[in-house]
Amino acid sequence: MPCTVFEILADFRDLIRAYPVKTNKPLKFIKTDKWRLRVRCLVEGCNFSFFCSRIGKSHNLSIKTMVEEHMCGESIKNKNVSVKWLAKTYVNKIRREPRKTLKSFIGDAFDDYHIEITKSMAWKAIKAAVYLLFGNEKQQFVRLWRAIKS
Ligand SMILES: [Zn+2]
Repeated sequence: MPCTVFEILADFRDLIRAYPVKTNKPLKFIKTDKWRLRVRCLVEGCNFSFFCSRIGKSHNLSIKTMVEEHMCGESIKNKNVSVKWLAKTYVNKIRREPRKTLKSFIGDAFDDYHIEITKSMAWKAIKAAVYLLFGNEKQQFVRLWRAIKS
């Protein structure tokens, strides 16, 4: 794999996206722009990572660094992703997009971390994020809640 050359970053993304499906290890996309993409294991302290970037000034990309061994031991099951973690991770996104639907929230979690969450988990996470944003300011909370539900 190190000598694989990608013409577009999307190819690399596809390759990386296929990875957790096989291994049940959620990955985190870190740096991402036109020419660079870093991916690492979702588990803090695990060294698993890939870094893909442009070859010189060409329009091709290749994997530059790669640590293929996970140090996180047992595979992380999606159920180990907590509502609290989801809420903290997505609180800013939810603030920016108060009308975010459950479906798009579930899609984001999948795109960003390759984790599959249930509707009820997404709903709990959005509620928790709204609490993080507005605390007990009930009126605001109720308004935003309605906006999200619609
Ligand atoms: Zn790992």
